Amino acid sequence: MSRFFSKKFRDLEAYVPGEQPRGQKLIKLNTNENPFPPSPKVWRAVEEAVKGLNFYNDPECRELRETLAEKFEISPEELLMTNGSDEILNFAFMTFCDGDHPALFPDLTYGFYTVFSRVDQVPFREIPLREDMTINLEDYRGLRGTIFLANPNAPTGLVLGLEKIRKLLESRPEDILVVDEAYIDFGGETCLPLIHEYDNLLVVRTFSKSRSLAGLRLGFGAANTELIKDLKNIQYSTNPYNVDSLAQAAGCACIRDDEYNMANVETIKSTRAWTAEKLRELGFEMTDSQTNFLFVRHDDLPGDTLYRGLRERGILIRRFDVPRIQNWNRISVGSREDMEELVRATGEILRAAGR
Ligand SMILES: *Cc1c(COP(=O)(O)O)cnc(C)c1O
Repeated sequence: MSRFFSKKFRDLEAYVPGEQPRGQKLIKLNTNENPFPPSPKVWRAVEEAVKGLNFYNDPECRELRETLAEKFEISPEELLMTNGSDEILNFAFMTFCDGDHPALFPDLTYGFYTVFSRVDQVPFREIPLREDMTINLEDYRGLRGTIFLANPNAPTGLVLGLEKIRKLLESRPEDILVVDEAYIDFGGETCLPLIHEYDNLLVVRTFSKSRSLAGLRLGFGAANTELIKDLKNIQYSTNPYNVDSLAQAAGCACIRDDEYNMANVETIKSTRAWTAEKLRELGFEMTDSQTNFLFVRHDDLPGDTLYRGLRERGILIRRFDVPRIQNWNRISVGSREDMEELVRATGEILRAAGR
C-alpha cells in the first residue's frame, strides 16, 4: 500500500475472484460459468453492432430494457441495466444503505456483499445461517436495515420460498429487501412479479450463469419505478455508459433466443442430478442445491485434500477459507464429460487417501 492510499479504505479487503487460468488445459468448475457457448444469434448481433462502435452506446439501454420488459411482463421503467449484476449490487449498497440502514445478510453468502459494504463505507451485519445452512427469518425480525439475500443462496445452493419472501417484505415495509437471483433459472421461484406488489423489493439478475454471457458483463435490477430512479441517479453519477453497445446488442439477441438458454439449463440440471448421485455413491454429503453448482463435503476427506488433489489432476473447484465451511467445496456443474472426469478423479483421490 502506498502512503497515498486513502485512509478511508484502510480496512478494505478486495473480492478475490475465482482463478481464471490461462494457457493450461484445465477443467474449470470454480466460478459457476455455463459450459455452453452463447447462442449463435448473439455472435451475429455482436458482429453487426461492431460497425457502430464509433458512436457512444445508448446510456438508457432502451431496446434491451424493452426486450426484457416484454419477456418478464414488467415495464421498461422498472429496469436498470448494469455492467454485470455486481454493478447493480454495488449501486444498491450505495443507494439504500447508510448509518440508519445497515446492510444485513447471512454469514454464508456471496462474498462480494462484505466487500461492497466496506468500499461503500456502509455498516453491515452478518446474520448466521442455521446449522443446516437455512435462513431463519426470525433472526431478521425487528432489525432495521437493507437485507441482501441471494436466492438460491451461494455457496449453499439452497432456496427460500416465495411465501417466506412475501412475509419478509410485509413485515418490514420501511426497509428494502434485495433478492439476488443469479441462479434462479436453475431452481426456485422468481420474485420478479412481486415488484408490482411491494415497493421495497429490488430483484437482481445476471446474464452470467444461465445465459452463458459471464464474459460480457451484463446484469440488471428490477424494482418499482421510484427505486429504479434512485439507482439510476447513482448510476448516472458513476458511469452513465456502463453497458457498452456490444453488450446491449448481445443481450437483446440472447433474450430473443431464450429457448436456447433454457434448453441448456435443463441439460445442466440433469447433469447436476447425475453428478450428485455419483458423488453420493462415493460417500459425499451435499446440500439440496438448486443452482448450477454442488456444495459438498466428505467425512473422511478434508476439503483441502480434495481441492488440491483435483487441482493436480487438472480440475479447478472452489474452496472458501471461511470457518464454518472449511471442509466444504463448491463444484460448478459443467458439461457431462467434465463431470465424468471429475467423478473419476475424485474416486482416485479417495482411493489414494485409503478411503
Ligand atoms: C455470479 C454471481 C453474481 C455476479 O454476477 P455478474 O453478473 O457476473 O457480476 C452475483 N450474485 C451471485 C450470488 C453470484 O453467484
